[in-house]
Amino acid sequence: MKWDEIPAAEQRRIQNEKLHRYLTEVIAPFSPYYKRFDLSKIKTVADLRHLPFTTKADLLPTSEQPEKFREFIITPDSTVLKHRPRVVAEALFRGRRAVERRFEREYRPIFLTATTGRSSSPVAFAYTEHDMHNLRETGARIIQTFGCTTKMRGVNMFPYAPHLAFWQVVFAGLEFGMLILSTGGGKVMGTDGNILAIEKVKPEALAGIPTFVYHVIRQAHEEGRKWPHVSKIILGGEKSPQGIRRKMVDLLQEMGAGDVRVCGTYGFTESRTAWGECPTLPEDSSGYHLFSDLGIIEVIDPETGAVKGEGEPGELVYTPLDARGTVVLRYRTGDYIDGGLTWEPCPHCGRTVPRLVGAIGRASNTKELDLGKLKGTLVNFDTLQHILDDSPDVGEWQLEIRKAHDDPHDVDELVLHIAPDNGADLDRLKDKIRNRFQREVELTPNRIEVHTMDDMLRRIKLETSLKEVRILDARPKP
Ligand SMILES: [Zn+2]
Repeated sequence: MKWDEIPAAEQRRIQNEKLHRYLTEVIAPFSPYYKRFDLSKIKTVADLRHLPFTTKADLLPTSEQPEKFREFIITPDSTVLKHRPRVVAEALFRGRRAVERRFEREYRPIFLTATTGRSSSPVAFAYTEHDMHNLRETGARIIQTFGCTTKMRGVNMFPYAPHLAFWQVVFAGLEFGMLILSTGGGKVMGTDGNILAIEKVKPEALAGIPTFVYHVIRQAHEEGRKWPHVSKIILGGEKSPQGIRRKMVDLLQEMGAGDVRVCGTYGFTESRTAWGECPTLPEDSSGYHLFSDLGIIEVIDPETGAVKGEGEPGELVYTPLDARGTVVLRYRTGDYIDGGLTWEPCPHCGRTVPRLVGAIGRASNTKELDLGKLKGTLVNFDTLQHILDDSPDVGEWQLEIRKAHDDPHDVDELVLHIAPDNGADLDRLKDKIRNRFQREVELTPNRIEVHTMDDMLRRIKLETSLKEVRILDARPKP
């Protein structure tokens, strides 16, 4: 049966079986880090709660252990392997060298991606040939989720870097058998280079981080280009609010495209895969379609760590079921999902896989501001981002937090920088933004500064940095 047609009850049975086998045969004997825990109690997914969480802090170097991440790399012990009856039989029939070669393919790291490390030093995640097979397999599954066919073509505009998003797309194309040109994004080829590449390849699918894809479409639209071939936009690497999805679809339709569908993806370095939405209208979301045979997602209460029920919001925690190389179990992502996890078949495509539904936000996007009378106000910048991305006349924006009068002892100020779309009525636009801020977060920017699009793109470093600067905290560090 295909991966996306198996009934939920059968998928859960397979998960329990695979988890038990994985912990017994791979993790307990060969993981330097997890070997210290008693894994024998964990026989089902529900038993996972007996295992402590792993967080990013566990992977970071310390003065005693400057190479802490190595503890998480699966390191086989040849004496243990040699005594397994299956291995003995295999050596008899196929020869010792063939068995050694198979173990090398299974366990030797040959590929790396790394965390982006904006707040801490990057952590490398190793893949073996076994993992590369899974990276290709999940890539092909994501393309199926998007509803693409092998006859379609794609342009991959994710930044060229040792990051999951870029490579997931590269291997997805190879495995699925679809022509994909990987441009490396804005930093490698510039906006003009990407536009010319799209003109040449005439792809059905465009993939990249939302801000950059939007920027490319907007500039091509301004240049009067026609892109009737585009029918799918694949977004990843950061959240893609409905407002920006709608803007992309509208622009492309003005450029001659027909029915354009936008599919978001979610994934992180530690999961070593991404998951995708199946196509819907920009206003809908089908949720991220998971691969239940390759990993387990738990949704937990971030305060107590208790596992939440189906459909309940909470923090996402990931455990792989078939990984080699760098392996983290019960990994706390710090990402919150507001609709939780559901096993209901997808109402859009009918796939039976579990899905993550609703918006995903990061806890770290909440900042504490001293706004005069309101000392220590907690402001969720995810909400502000939604408001700005949803404002139709705002082309690009940046929020800057600074100290009033540049005095480190003064109150904080919130300055909103915007580049409005051509022809927008500035006074009305400013009023509209102030009103929405007041209504939804009960605060308004101290100033709204208007810039040209070129100045704005330099401010957010769209073409020069891997991650554009949306929230600029310009307060002096204490
Ligand atoms: Zn679906």
